[in-house]
Amino acid sequence: MSEDYEKNLESVASARPVGAALQAASQGRLIIDVARLDEGGEDFNGEIPIDQLDLDPDDLLFRPRSGLRYKLRVTLLDGILFASGRAEEDFECTCVRCAEDFPWTACDDEVEISIENAAADSFIDLTDSLRECIILSFPSNPLCREDCKGLCQHCGKNLNKEACECAQDGDGRWGALDGLEME
Ligand SMILES: [Zn+2]
Ligand SMILES: [Zn+2]
Repeated sequence: MSEDYEKNLESVASARPVGAALQAASQGRLIIDVARLDEGGEDFNGEIPIDQLDLDPDDLLFRPRSGLRYKLRVTLLDGILFASGRAEEDFECTCVRCAEDFPWTACDDEVEISIENAAADSFIDLTDSLRECIILSFPSNPLCREDCKGLCQHCGKNLNKEACECAQDGDGRWGALDGLEME
């Protein structure tokens, strides 16, 4: 083995400090440096900045208001990289019944990601998988509260805030018909 070769090995080793196997210069994305991952697994806690998540800030129902916070245990076993734990992110939502905006936190506390064929010298970016966990936790119809009374279909008043005269008997549709019959 030549002296130069040994020197090169040394400089490579010193450029890769032992510790959290996070790739440097990742712009906050969660990128696992598999070569540096502890044999027994490692904990990763952090926040991926909002600008790395590709979520529409003007979405009709779910507008991101924070980065994605994660708390994960990452292990490598037989070439498969596992990440399990929790991911959450704050959103401003719009209620599908009353159209009011309200704050809401998307949360997946049973994150289970597995990446097969994780080469020992690879960098694995878990950002998109975590983003997917957040999106899958969205309810199809966000409600400001479970018993949101919604808008009156007849006069448009927000029934959470004030009662209206239209729908005192039955629901708004029949109430409106009753009104027509009386005219
Ligand atoms: Zn509502
Ligand atoms: Zn009404």
